[in-house]
Amino acid sequence: MSVDVEDYFHVSVFDGIVPRSTWGDMESRVCRNTERLLDIFDRYAVQSTFFVLGWVAERHPSLVRSIADRGHELASHGYAHRLVYDQTPETFRDDVRRAKSIIEDAGGRAVSGYRAPSYSVTPRSLWALDILIEEGYAYDASIFPIRHDRYGIPVSPREPFRVERSAGSLMEVPGSTVRIGPLNLPVGGGGYFRILPYAWTRWGIGRLNQDAQSAVFYLHPWEIDPEQPRLPAGWLGRFRHYRNLGLTEERLTALLEDFRFAPVGTLLRTRAQLAAGPLAPLALPYVW
Ligand SMILES: [Zn+2]
Repeated sequence: MSVDVEDYFHVSVFDGIVPRSTWGDMESRVCRNTERLLDIFDRYAVQSTFFVLGWVAERHPSLVRSIADRGHELASHGYAHRLVYDQTPETFRDDVRRAKSIIEDAGGRAVSGYRAPSYSVTPRSLWALDILIEEGYAYDASIFPIRHDRYGIPVSPREPFRVERSAGSLMEVPGSTVRIGPLNLPVGGGGYFRILPYAWTRWGIGRLNQDAQSAVFYLHPWEIDPEQPRLPAGWLGRFRHYRNLGLTEERLTALLEDFRFAPVGTLLRTRAQLAAGPLAPLALPYVW
């Protein structure tokens, strides 16, 4: 289980509509929505990984502390929610370093996981993995092995795997998919959880579990907030962001009743133990 802790106006679809210089003037709803998720997780005794945006952690350190105190794993969603492939390696390094430091200071514990805004580690931005290794991250959860207009590496492995890079290695934790014919179809949360019927997610995760695979599920605090202010965007952006917001909380509780969940770090440690030793490093099975 994972949560990307950001406010409704941080979402990439509003890039250019809500400039970063005005973020501080927007009504913030992230604390209330995240606390609500924490309460739901408490009710089902679920521990999760919270990939916190550095910008949020800087303004709300008590929220970060609360997440840690309630037994969850803290991880990084970067600082300024810029797509990785829109950054230079230098600005990306500054962004992930700054976020890690702010979240660690606020939460009082080490951060070892990273998830990029909008899964933006793609064939254009694989250099980011080297920087994450150099900046002390042990795992990345930013590659979705699907075709999508803004992200995805369709041929990337569908299960967690170790990536060998010149800077060292890290674990890659891909977004979950089921394989149907030649296609990988997403089953692990976000818009797919909200927009498609819940039966799709339940079937997909069940199918992964039958094959002794874990699903990596993700959602955002703003997805359980149907009252959030409406922002202008194109029709596709509005559809993806606002569709079924009023149904998400109910679906989440159904999901928590149907399956058991753990933080990403726990999943990786369990896999390493099951493999009876360190997982053998694999090179990425493709060259771009
Ligand atoms: Zn995000």
